[in-house]
Amino acid sequence: MSTETPLDLKKTVNLPKTDFAQKANLAQSEPVRLEKWAKLDLYRLIRHAREGREKFILHDGPPYANADIHLGTAMNKILKDFIVKSRTMMGYDAPYVPGYDCHGLPIEQLLERALEKKGKKKSDLSTESFRRACREHAENALKRQTRDFKRLGILGEWDDPYLTMSNHYEAETARMFARFVERGWVYKGARPVYWCIKDQTALAEAEVEYHQHTSPSVYVKFPLQSDPSLVDPALAGRKVFVLIWTTTPWTLPANLGIAVHPDFEYAAFEHGDEAYIVASELVEAVAAKCGLDPEPNVVARFQGSKLDRLECRHAWLDRTSLLMVGDHVTLGGEADAETELDVSESQKKSDGKAGTGAVHTAPGHGHDDFVIGKRYGLEIYCPVDNVGRFTPDVAHFAGQRVFEANDAIVEFMREKGVLLFSEKYDHRYPHCWRCKNPVIFRATPQWFIAMDQAHRDLVEKDEDGRDRSNYTDNLAESSVASLRGESLEAIERVTWIPGWGVDRMRNMLKARPDWCVSRQRVWGVNIPVFYCARCNEPVADPAVINHVADVFEKESGDAWYTREAKDLLPPGYTCKACGGVEWTKESDILDVWFESGTSSIAVLENRDGLRWPADVYLEGGDQYRGWFNSSLMVGIAAHDRAPYKTVITHGWTLDAQGRAMHKSAGNAVEPEKVIKQSGAETIRLWCASSNYMDDMRGSDEILQRVTDAYRKLRNTARFALGNLHGFDPERDSVPFDQMEEIDRWALAELDRVTRRVLAAYEAYEFHNVYQALYHFATVTLSARYFDIIKDRLYTFALRNKARRSAQTVLLRIGDALARMLAPILVFTADEIWENLPNRAEPSIHLAELPPASEQTDESLFAEWDGLFAIRDNVLRALEEARVAKQIGSSLDAKVTIEASGGALELLRRHQSDLRYLFIVSQVELREAAGEMKIAVSRADGQKCERCWNYSTRVGESEVYPTVCERCVAALNEIEQGQIR
Ligand SMILES: [Zn+2]
Ligand SMILES: [Zn+2]
Ligand SMILES: [Zn+2]
Repeated sequence: MSTETPLDLKKTVNLPKTDFAQKANLAQSEPVRLEKWAKLDLYRLIRHAREGREKFILHDGPPYANADIHLGTAMNKILKDFIVKSRTMMGYDAPYVPGYDCHGLPIEQLLERALEKKGKKKSDLSTESFRRACREHAENALKRQTRDFKRLGILGEWDDPYLTMSNHYEAETARMFARFVERGWVYKGARPVYWCIKDQTALAEAEVEYHQHTSPSVYVKFPLQSDPSLVDPALAGRKVFVLIWTTTPWTLPANLGIAVHPDFEYAAFEHGDEAYIVASELVEAVAAKCGLDPEPNVVARFQGSKLDRLECRHAWLDRTSLLMVGDHVTLGGEADAETELDVSESQKKSDGKAGTGAVHTAPGHGHDDFVIGKRYGLEIYCPVDNVGRFTPDVAHFAGQRVFEANDAIVEFMREKGVLLFSEKYDHRYPHCWRCKNPVIFRATPQWFIAMDQAHRDLVEKDEDGRDRSNYTDNLAESSVASLRGESLEAIERVTWIPGWGVDRMRNMLKARPDWCVSRQRVWGVNIPVFYCARCNEPVADPAVINHVADVFEKESGDAWYTREAKDLLPPGYTCKACGGVEWTKESDILDVWFESGTSSIAVLENRDGLRWPADVYLEGGDQYRGWFNSSLMVGIAAHDRAPYKTVITHGWTLDAQGRAMHKSAGNAVEPEKVIKQSGAETIRLWCASSNYMDDMRGSDEILQRVTDAYRKLRNTARFALGNLHGFDPERDSVPFDQMEEIDRWALAELDRVTRRVLAAYEAYEFHNVYQALYHFATVTLSARYFDIIKDRLYTFALRNKARRSAQTVLLRIGDALARMLAPILVFTADEIWENLPNRAEPSIHLAELPPASEQTDESLFAEWDGLFAIRDNVLRALEEARVAKQIGSSLDAKVTIEASGGALELLRRHQSDLRYLFIVSQVELREAAGEMKIAVSRADGQKCERCWNYSTRVGESEVYPTVCERCVAALNEIEQGQIR
């Protein structure tokens, strides 16, 4: 080309060019990228790339393989993915093995309902067939969940997740039970446990939830039948009654005693010819509540211990009610429902002034009642059957359902004249977490894991105290330790995020009663215990259980049903108590929390590439009672330490008003719908956009804001990519010390945000990653840096060094942004990566997070903060001029600044940068004392056709008469470049 032929001006402007589209079309592009990853076998590639590196293990808490995923499940998995991906990009070998909780009540219930619809009953099917149906249901559900989790961009061993219903896992569950037995922590006893009368099974602590419930509150008279003068001489010859208060009248037929506090003062006050005993402090309150004399005449005061072992008669039954003393008795006070132990606890404490200080005690229906009843040798009497009906020995009420019997009992007591007062009473009451019905506390024979002591006897000692040799032979040396004591120590060595986790766990551990691990159900791992058919002696021998576990390993837990007892026991096994050789099998299954608690052993210890303990567990706050808890028990039993080094808790997903999401309420954000509309990235970015340690709010409007934020992040990346067109890093990079100052400033800012982001990833604070990157993209880059370098990028000659300087920075920015966004925006970051000129790895997910540079020039912050402060004022003045129609674009303007001192010096140091900084055609500086003044006028000269800046020198060139002197220089440079 000849120098005489003028260039086509339009073609000499370097407009951005990239395949990275402005419109993301995530709903369409994400599945394409997932396919690409599948073809690459990306997860394997990552494993290979990190081989030999330090391990980082996040252990997945298994979601229940029941229904489809909702926003909460999506959030849980995405947060885990943030951790795994960020640790991987920190250089760790961080494998992710997802798991599924497959056994348990919800699936049984679903199938029972399905059978009902077909007019069938569970008992119409063999247990094997029913279990097969349960298995199929779990398999289908977990397949759908896997599909949905993969769609969210979560990488992991999806082709081989751990399943609590796999043969190996079932065998490991049985082996873990053997381990607990070995430590002497397993026993069978009849003690009160939560019982769902709808589902007819015992429930664990973690399986009840507290809701408001209305119960009858009653004040009842129990006549003292011991000589009243034994209490106080002033009571001699009087008709004395002890007053009790309860909100579960249905437990009164099971009343065997009344507990008082030994150290509290009690008083007897007159009413007619009767005297009533209550705690001194409650005399007025009780009298007022029951409508008695508001200023009662107290005839005697005495310590609670005076009542010890005296006797009352039952309020209406021909039976003794024993007076006992116990420290558990309170004078009321609001209790935290979540640490409630049982029904009776919640009644006693649920109202500050309710109660009498004399506690109705039914050892078969409450934990404290059981404990004190045992101490006083009372029977653990529980006259209520599986479905919550009174047994035939309950006079007047036999066959009635307990909740319905409440009113009848109240009426009956009124007629009998033993009821002083009754009213409706609202309180927090435990409900079954599955069927949502109120539960009862009921003593039945169950298997327990002891929290406080090793049990020398497998079955809690009966009166005859026979030797239980089938068990005691196999107690391990370590059995002296207590599970509660060890757990309490272990949690102090765990990092809890947020920090209150340790308090919550400590309270939970201190309060929890022995762990009831038996369930009267079929879809689970059977408790591997046999009973001698001749003497009924149970066998829970670790060697025997491990033998059974080996059978499960080959044939699955179904073997418990398909094989005879003798074919499950080691050949020739005989009863150590009686020499018997005939056996029956335990029919209860293990608590599913026992199973999922076993996961650290079944998975981390048993799979290649993992290790025990895990670095991190991350779940919702409900898992303090659930998985965090049961996993801890298993960790202690197996290795005397917690199975996790760090436990992270996330909040709930709520709607914009802070209410729980329900499909039926129409306020649920459905992941599937969001994905179809705006892609999985929207959900992922939403997860990062607020602090997961609080509750996470979601609504269409909130997601719209996230979509807007996404667009801004995308546009920022697109600007960098577009202006890297034709940039060859090897050939074109400009060394740091030869860069323009503002470019070095941008790098300093990049380093600053990089350090922030790395620290936030390190601390699992993803909302801080998001905030740092969002601010960097929208303010530092879009509103400042990019605005200022546009002119240089577009109008300077392609290979001009100043332009290359900006491009060198853009490459660093694009590269670092992609890496820092990658754990969160997994699809978009990979797309940015593909469009960068220097990528070495085929996917961003094989790359590492960027290091913060050593070269940061911190002094630039002060210098440029000063300039940007002035710039804000200039931009304001320009905006005013624009509104006043004085100028159109800012390039139409000339800015005159009057300043003095340091400000003037600062501006003078950057005189040649100022027009780019303000995006105006001319800047004039004048020295003048006083406050800085900024004036905007029309720029001098004519508008350059090429760069749209104004210049008095437009027209100087004969070849390019319509352009400014800068453009003439650029065009000469371009021409020369082309000749070369
Ligand atoms: Zn239930
Ligand atoms: Zn026997
Ligand atoms: Zn120009």
